[in-house]
Amino acid sequence: MRPFAYERAHDAPDAVARFRPGAMYLGGGTNLVDLMRLGVAEPDFLVDVSRLSCGDIEASDGGLRIGAAVRNSDLAAHPGVRERYPMLARAVLTGASGQVRNMATVAGNLLQRTRCPYFQDVSKACNKRRPGSGCPAIEGDHRNLAILGHSEACVATHPSDMAVALAALDARVHVTGPDGDRVVSMPGLHRLPGAEPHRDTVLEPGELITAVELPPPPPGRSRYRKVRERASFAFALVSVAAVLDVGDDGVVRGCRLALGGVAHAPWRASDAERVLRGAPAGEEAFIRAAEAELDQARPLPRNGYKVPLARNLIVRTLQELGP
Ligand SMILES: Cc1cc2nc3c(=O)[nH]c(=O)nc-3n(C[C@H](O)[C@H](O)[C@H](O)COP(=O)(O)OP(=O)(O)OC[C@H]3O[C@@H](n4cnc5c(N)ncnc54)[C@H](O)[C@@H]3O)c2cc1C
Ligand code: SF4
Repeated sequence: MRPFAYERAHDAPDAVARFRPGAMYLGGGTNLVDLMRLGVAEPDFLVDVSRLSCGDIEASDGGLRIGAAVRNSDLAAHPGVRERYPMLARAVLTGASGQVRNMATVAGNLLQRTRCPYFQDVSKACNKRRPGSGCPAIEGDHRNLAILGHSEACVATHPSDMAVALAALDARVHVTGPDGDRVVSMPGLHRLPGAEPHRDTVLEPGELITAVELPPPPPGRSRYRKVRERASFAFALVSVAAVLDVGDDGVVRGCRLALGGVAHAPWRASDAERVLRGAPAGEEAFIRAAEAELDQARPLPRNGYKVPLARNLIVRTLQELGP
């Protein structure tokens, strides 16, 4: 590992003031330190933001404001999250292990990097790690990679489960930086790769996430389901965050659907939502909705299995939430 300097910030403005070219913010370190050991990340200065005062969960405008430094375990265990946003608590609990969740922060989870095997291997080319060097995954091992929204430059997937639930909940990410404060609505924090896969998010250098704000929970029942290669300690092959609100007449009044494991960003399934709204809740509408969304899928030679997997997961999850 390359030598680096380390300082702990007192508060958010102090963290931003300390940031300089070559620096990175450090949350729980469960992803960044691994990448430093692998030589994938080479910051010369770490600004530790894991103990900032933004470590609380508070009521806000009928919803919740979650500090960026809240640990993943504390988020999943918080009574307000468990009772009012069970889908979010579930999504967090499906990620990593108890030990990792005790260390990992909310902001760090959202900004963790892809687990594409070539990205993590510095002996290989990778447009995300070294722009312009190529994307060996397109011809090589892409079994777990994207089927939606990918580009000729990158077919990686975003790994966070929490981000998928936040995308379905219309969460707002509060950011501060050298040019002031701003708010980014989910799923708009993460980018599709396009020609610039080295940029995972819309954040500019030095911008610090300070909080995630949840609006009041949407009406209806919700669920997070994740398919993975083993029952724990594994990233999603495909995941679904779903909220379904069905009236007494059996018609869908509202619905939210987001997919994980399929794209470079949490994927809000807007086409499926459009099909469902106003339709009689039932298998036929659920299949039509899933197929409307997955019409856009462009699977690679070895990850075509994700298309029926995503379709079946959407349908099954909606069936569980339906009347
Ligand atoms: C074996 C293993 C399995 C895992 N499985 C899953 C899984 O299935 N699902 C899942 O969702 N996650 C999974 N994880 C990921 C784990 O949840 C992440 O490592 C963790 O959430 C990252 O959080 P952190 O606070 O440690 O971030 P760090 O490693 O400290 O930082 C990650 C990134 O965020 C940046 N950053 C941190 N805080 C801020 C801030 N406030 N503002 C701006 N930038 C910031 C850092 O600069 C860095 O780029 C797994 C991890 C491991 C090790
Ligand atoms: S898919 Fe993206 S992260 Fe993976 S090798 Fe290609 S450019 Fe790199």
